[in-house]
Amino acid sequence: MTTTVAQHTPVLPTDANSSDATSTPAAKAAPERHNLLGMSREQMEDFFLSIGEKKFRAAQLMKWIHQEGSDDFAAMTNLSKPLREKLARVAEIRGPAVIYEGTSSDGTRKWVLEVEDGSYVETVLIPAENGKRRTLCVSSQVGCSLDCSFCSTGKQGFQRNLTAAEIIGQVWVAQRSVGPRRDTANRPVTNVVMMGMGEPLLNFDNVVPAMKLMLDDNGYGLSKRRVTLSTSGVVPMIDKLGDEMDVSLAISLHASTDELRNELVPINRKYNIRALLDACHRYLAKCPDNRQVTIEYTLIKDINDQQEHAEQLAALLKELPCKINLIPFNPFPNSGYEKPSRNQVMRFQQWLYDQGYNATVRTTRGEDIDAACGQLVGRVKDRTKRSARYIQSVQLDAD
Ligand code: SAH
Ligand code: SF4
Repeated sequence: MTTTVAQHTPVLPTDANSSDATSTPAAKAAPERHNLLGMSREQMEDFFLSIGEKKFRAAQLMKWIHQEGSDDFAAMTNLSKPLREKLARVAEIRGPAVIYEGTSSDGTRKWVLEVEDGSYVETVLIPAENGKRRTLCVSSQVGCSLDCSFCSTGKQGFQRNLTAAEIIGQVWVAQRSVGPRRDTANRPVTNVVMMGMGEPLLNFDNVVPAMKLMLDDNGYGLSKRRVTLSTSGVVPMIDKLGDEMDVSLAISLHASTDELRNELVPINRKYNIRALLDACHRYLAKCPDNRQVTIEYTLIKDINDQQEHAEQLAALLKELPCKINLIPFNPFPNSGYEKPSRNQVMRFQQWLYDQGYNATVRTTRGEDIDAACGQLVGRVKDRTKRSARYIQSVQLDAD
């Protein structure tokens, strides 16, 4: 099946001579306005200074954008009319276009978003604990260069990094669809996991400002324990992340020997398991509070789901403050791998338990709307199925 990619409709300037220019070359040639959506507080302060305005405007704008979900300067009534008009001339608040939105019978919501170049990214909001927790699974890249052998994103290859606006735009869309965040006790998004498409640490310069907006009091105001970055193990960037911020860290381990991990997660050939676990220790040492790393372990039939693997895994993790999250492999066409039986998953969990680990196993949710990052895009673009793993892995037990 092939699908025509919808044309992205730019947000138009509100001033004259552009009213008929929806997607004409003339509109594209117009001077580019600054998209405020992905700007961190510092960047937005610099922007206001650069247009001859006071720094404190940044906090006002951030509240309008991220808490009220506004993209319309005219509605920002605590700004003077001349300032609103000036902003409309030089700036814009441009989020991704919503191509598809669906809600499953269990309340899981999914959006397929079109970003600048016509690529699609997906984001999924998963409610838990009677709706008290709502976890958003966010993508960081279109495709991925790391080519893990069991991952359909890897099979698509790498297309490009998402911009900070496109990353935070996923949170913005989810938040907007639920309503303004005036009532902090009832936030539309309570947790974010960077577990959508892509390797977030290979898009550090855009992922970090976006995560800062998630934490900022004038942004989404999430606690650092409720924002989780998942990585396949880009060791130097784990260190760099630890120097910048202390969000929760999830590691895609999936194997307990270098020999097997080299096959499943090829970046292991560059940064092996020891180097990765050492980086986890260094990261935790920089966190001021008592923190654990989440170890993600995708169980693949007859590959890494035997008793010896569980025992090796337990031995490997002995020194690391961590919790283990088991994710049954989510099959996709021509992957060459199979999902283990339910019984095998339970046996693996028991073997870990025998070694002193209370590992969690994630169950699929939102299936009636294919609710997961990757699946619908998979259908229209590369016909692969990636739903279960996201749904299974997003519910990390961040507090
Ligand atoms: N690139 C990052 C984050 C995105 S992947 C990373 O690799 O950590 C999110 C999680 O889903 C990772 O743990 C990844 O290994 C796992 N995953 C990928 N493909 C999967 C599949 N087909 N079945 C189950 N889990 C999968
Ligand atoms: Fe990339 Fe993560 Fe998939 Fe590996 S598992 S190919 S790092 S998205």
